[in-house]
Amino acid sequence: LANRMFHPEDTIVNVDGILIGGKKIVLIGGPCSVESEEQIVRIAKEVKEAGADMLRGGAYKPRTSPYAFQGLGTEGVLDLVKAKEATSLPVVSELMSIDKLDEFVQYVDIIQIGARNMQNFDLLKAVGRTKKPVLLKRGLCNTIEEWIMAAEYIMAEGNPNVIFCERGIRTFETYTRNTLDLAVIPIIKERTHLPIIIDPSHAAGDYKLIESLSLAAIAAGADGLIIEVHDDPENAWSDGAQSLKPAKFNDLIAKGKAIAHVI
Ligand code: PEP
Ligand code: MN
Repeated sequence: LANRMFHPEDTIVNVDGILIGGKKIVLIGGPCSVESEEQIVRIAKEVKEAGADMLRGGAYKPRTSPYAFQGLGTEGVLDLVKAKEATSLPVVSELMSIDKLDEFVQYVDIIQIGARNMQNFDLLKAVGRTKKPVLLKRGLCNTIEEWIMAAEYIMAEGNPNVIFCERGIRTFETYTRNTLDLAVIPIIKERTHLPIIIDPSHAAGDYKLIESLSLAAIAAGADGLIIEVHDDPENAWSDGAQSLKPAKFNDLIAKGKAIAHVI
């Protein structure tokens, strides 16, 4: 179903009127974690001001340590709804478990399947039984073939609204958090008709690298970017080191749009 051979034209995923996979690149910004209603509403206004099309924010967090902050849960999802009401930005958030699916169908505009759940086949089938757009992140150690098959799991259940998201893979290199595989952009576009966006934040792990990776991704033909933005990165509850401040995010959007205009 994802195969370009049987579906030559590009799929455009419509999220509340925002088109992913169309002519314009889509820019998604926001904190790794929702920390409070006040925090997410404030950052939502800042990312909107910077020119973002959508807001991200995690309410259920797949943390390496069970003792690290696990997310605000339902409260965080409801805080995202407040941020959407304040800005009209559609929201993207990660679903980790099938038992929260109804909550996500009701309140979230794009369901994110995180890298660690890329091959959680029951979860893929469950989101496949909805019509919600799904942002399918590439697994930490998964091949392109496995990633496309994960999309196939969602589509086989009847949901055609799948968006790929490359967020870096594990390699021998430890200087960066992960290694951003930019070759997937033309490969996914050749093999499938689905949109692909890039997450430079989890790929790099370091805010200083975000701009270069983002601009390269746009030049390589990505349909958009999802970037972690925090107005107080030093005190962020997760992923502060890779989060851009709103002013830097604003500069990046201006440069990104300029490159998108040229290619
Ligand atoms: C995230 O988006 O904050 C996240 C945990 O991403 P990934 O699944 O790519 O690690
Ligand atoms: Mn994160």
